[in-house]
Amino acid sequence: MAARSPQARDNVECCFKNCESTSKVLKPGDGRVDVRAFESKAKQAMVVKWKEGATATFHRSCWAELYKATQSSSSPISLSDVERSMILDANKTAEYHDSDAAISQAAENIVHILQQSSYCIAFTGAGISTAAGIGDYRGIHGKWTEKYKVKNYGAKGANKPAASKMNGDLQPTYSHEALVKLQDMGLLKFLISQNTDGLHMLSGIPADKMAELHGNSYVEKCEDCGKRYERSYPCRQINGSFQKRCPRCRLNHRTGRKCSEPSCNGFLMNTIINFGDFLESDVIDQARQAAVMSDAVLVLGSTLMVSPANVLVTMGKKPARLIICNRQITPYDGNCCEVDPDGQPLGSRVFGDCDNLMKKVMSLLLPPKELKTWEDGRRARLMEYGLKRTFVRNDLPVHPYKASVLTATQRDKTNAADIIDLFVMEQLMNSCSKELYVFLRKRKPADSTELVAIAEKYIETHGSAGAFARNNILTRRTPQKSRALL
Ligand SMILES: [Zn+2]
Ligand SMILES: [Zn+2]
Ligand SMILES: [Zn+2]
Repeated sequence: MAARSPQARDNVECCFKNCESTSKVLKPGDGRVDVRAFESKAKQAMVVKWKEGATATFHRSCWAELYKATQSSSSPISLSDVERSMILDANKTAEYHDSDAAISQAAENIVHILQQSSYCIAFTGAGISTAAGIGDYRGIHGKWTEKYKVKNYGAKGANKPAASKMNGDLQPTYSHEALVKLQDMGLLKFLISQNTDGLHMLSGIPADKMAELHGNSYVEKCEDCGKRYERSYPCRQINGSFQKRCPRCRLNHRTGRKCSEPSCNGFLMNTIINFGDFLESDVIDQARQAAVMSDAVLVLGSTLMVSPANVLVTMGKKPARLIICNRQITPYDGNCCEVDPDGQPLGSRVFGDCDNLMKKVMSLLLPPKELKTWEDGRRARLMEYGLKRTFVRNDLPVHPYKASVLTATQRDKTNAADIIDLFVMEQLMNSCSKELYVFLRKRKPADSTELVAIAEKYIETHGSAGAFARNNILTRRTPQKSRALL
C-alpha cells in the first residue's frame, strides 16, 4: 500500500527539535505543514528529525522559521550546508493545512462570495481527484516529486509513487458532487478543468457547461469531421496498423475505432493533450469566454502553474474575487488576499483538502434537511456512476451489469483477504454466467475457497453451461496480481 501522509485524524509530533510551541504535538484539526523527508548520509547534528521516505510534520511557524534560517545567516537557528539544502528540497514538497477553525471561517466568507456573485466559475486540477485515488504531481507523494528524488538522490530510498487506481475504479469525490450541486442551485455557471479523468462528466456536469483543457480519457473525436464520442470506457491508444505518430507529442492518438457518421469513416483519436500538443482551440475559446464573464473564481486542487490556467483565473471582472483551495502554494495566493475599500477580503485562500472545505461550504449553503438528503444520496449516486462505466480488462469491455456489482462490492471490502476474494470474484465474473453470479451473491461465500466450492456445486448441478467458468475459477484461484495488491 502506498505510504499515507499523516492525516487530520492523527496526533503527530512537530519534527523541529527546538520547537517552542505550547504543545509539541499537533492534534487533528491543527494547522500544520507536511514535507517529504529526504535521506541524508551526513552524520552531523540536525535540527530536524528527518526520517527517510516519511512525511515530516511541523507547526506552520516552526517551518517558517526553518525556511527563514536557510535564507539568512543572522537566524538563531544554525544550519549545516547539508541540512540547509535538505530543507530547501523538502520545501518544494510542502503541503500546508489550515486549522479546522480557520477553514470554517473561510467557508463562511466563500459562501458569501458565491451568493453575491452573478457569474461564478470553478477551475479544478489534480488536487480535487486525489481523494478519488489519483496521484498528483507536486505533492509529497507526487509523480514529479518522486522523479526528482530519483534523479538527485539515486533510485535507492525512492518511494514508489502512490499507487493510482485504474481509471475505471475512480468515483467522483465529495467536491466533484458539490460542484454539480452548486450548478443545480445556479451558483456555478461554468467549470474549467485540467483533469483528464472524466470525473466531472461522470458526476453530471454537462459537456456544454465545462471546458476540459487537457482532454477527457472517456471522449474520442473524429480526425476528419471532428465529431465527439462519449464512451463508457477509457479511449486508450491501441496498437495496430492504423497508428499515426502525432507530429507534436510524437505519440499515437488514434484509438482504432472509426467515425460512425455516414460518408465519413474517419479515424477516431483520443482527446488527451500530451506535452507538446496544442490545446483544442474551441475548448480554450469556451474557457476564455467564461473566464472573461466571471466575477468570482473557485479554484479547487490546482497549483496554477500550467499555462493557460494563470491567464484564465485572473481574466474576470474587477474587483477580482479569487478563491483558491490547494495544499501547495500557488503564484496567485496574493490575489486571493486583496481587500475592498472597507478592508474586507475580496477572495479567500484555503490551505487544505478540497473535500474538507466543500463539506463546510455545503453545510452552510444548504438547509440541514436538504443537506442530509443530498449527502445520503451519495450511495445511490455511486451505484449510478458504476453503471455508466464499462470495465475494461485486457482491452475487452466487461459486461456493465457485472462491472456495477463489482464496484458496489469493492467499496465495502477493505482487508487483504477480501481483496483476494474480490480478485477471484472478478476473474470469475469475467467468464461466469449472470445466473451463476446471482447464485453466488445470494449464497454470500465467506472466502474464496467457499466461493469456488459453491461455484463447483452449481456447475455440477447445472451442467455444461458453467464449464468454461469452472476452468477459469480453478486456474485463477490465487492470481499473481492479487498479491501485488497487498
Ligand atoms: Zn513546532
Ligand atoms: Zn467523422
Ligand atoms: Zn499529440
